Amino acid sequence: MKHYMPTRILTGKGILQKHKEIFPALGKRCCIISSKSSGRLSGALDDLLAIFDEYSIDYVIYDQISQNPTVVSCIEAGRKAFKFKADFIAGVGGGSVLDASKTAAVVAANPELTEELIYKQSWNHKPIPLILIGTTAGTGSEVTYVSVMTNKDGIKKSIHNDDLYARYAFGDPDYTISMPDHVRISTAIDALAHLLESYFNNNSNDISRAYSLQGVRLLYPKLKLLAGHQELNDQDREAIYNASILGGLAINITGTVFCHTLGYYFTERYHLLHGFACALFTNELLDYEHKHHPDYCDSFFQTVQIDQEEIKELIRSLLPDTEIHLTEEEIQAMLPRYTNNGSVKNTYGTMTVDDIEEILHRL
Ligand code: NAP
Ligand code: FE
Repeated sequence: MKHYMPTRILTGKGILQKHKEIFPALGKRCCIISSKSSGRLSGALDDLLAIFDEYSIDYVIYDQISQNPTVVSCIEAGRKAFKFKADFIAGVGGGSVLDASKTAAVVAANPELTEELIYKQSWNHKPIPLILIGTTAGTGSEVTYVSVMTNKDGIKKSIHNDDLYARYAFGDPDYTISMPDHVRISTAIDALAHLLESYFNNNSNDISRAYSLQGVRLLYPKLKLLAGHQELNDQDREAIYNASILGGLAINITGTVFCHTLGYYFTERYHLLHGFACALFTNELLDYEHKHHPDYCDSFFQTVQIDQEEIKELIRSLLPDTEIHLTEEEIQAMLPRYTNNGSVKNTYGTMTVDDIEEILHRL
């Protein structure tokens, strides 16, 4: 069972400033990787630049990472770091930026890499050191060994490799204040999806289940606040952020289940935000487990002291109206992707592509 964690996780208010001595120890030159607005709006970029200024660390910024980052942009970012002779990379943003920064750190040490070689995970040199600073609270990408990218055919495809772990993962819940409401909700239910998909997973074990249970306990009351459009305070934001990290730690051990792999399609084709796309199927997972493994399912809900119908209603209330109705033709075209699919097989029990077909018909 995979459980190799070389990442030092540092979270809390003002965490960057508190541990600023880490940066000069990594070198004198940094390539910052970010996206259009999140680094600036969150305040994370300003905080980082103030530290670089204090320690005279030279930097370049690559800020062209978009949502569901393309492999091409990861290569571009990595080559920029290589040309700049960066000693380390700092990724500042949401899950998209963090995932892109992981692959970019590999490319920075192996600038000849192409999309094909990246997906083959065929590189000679270890990546340059990586620091991740999250600005959303959902993916847990700060702590995972996964980089999800969009390939040249527009398909979301991930790589999993121990080389992708960050040296340091920084999480300051204040950086999530500036998220627009729909991103805040989508990312929070992505965290819930990770926690549940890890629990109802054939690879789960006592360690991953401990992460899941504690993550759901922290997150559930905060999801209720989000559903009620209530203001969040510092403690609420910290709980959501920490639950997202627990979700990342949990899926590092287990992987996700069918909900995530189906969700990718709905992001590619219907441009749904990642969390919304995956959570479209969270209630299907709960129904499937309730039907096939009632004891395992009941013991989960008893332990977290949540009513199963109530959580399903809460998830429905957080999802946007998608108006997506798949045609028979579209469903049939989708199915080959889910035959022999690792995430489908991970689903606790023995899920098959026939089950997936039924689920898609119910959408
Ligand atoms: P995201 O795609 O990183 O960001 C979504 C949007 O939110 C972007 O438009 C971004 O703006 C904006 N944003 C982010 N932080 C902000 C802030 N603090 N203030 C204002 N705007 C902010 O969203 P995400 O849900 O965190 O990441 C989703 C990606 O992560 C997907 O590709 C998914 O597949 C992947 N993922 C990876 C893992 C893993 O283990 N590696 C796990 C789950 C999901 P700008 O673009 O303008 O900056
Ligand atoms: Fe996710």
